[in-house]
Amino acid sequence: MAVSVRKYVDCREFPSENNCSLKISGTEEEVLAAASQHAVASHGHQAGPELTEMLRSGLREER
Ligand SMILES: [Zn+2]
Repeated sequence: MAVSVRKYVDCREFPSENNCSLKISGTEEEVLAAASQHAVASHGHQAGPELTEMLRSGLREER
């Protein structure tokens, strides 16, 4: 895997009640770690494998 490729998740692609527009980018591990914390803190999600899978499915490659 190329280190130079960054991934991102865009909160606008996920349903949310607070119209969150945050975008998190970095390596896959960084994004998943930061996005999990953000999802729990700001979106009321529960941390766990399901959350990680949901976030992973929302990962996009930055160009
Ligand atoms: Zn958000």
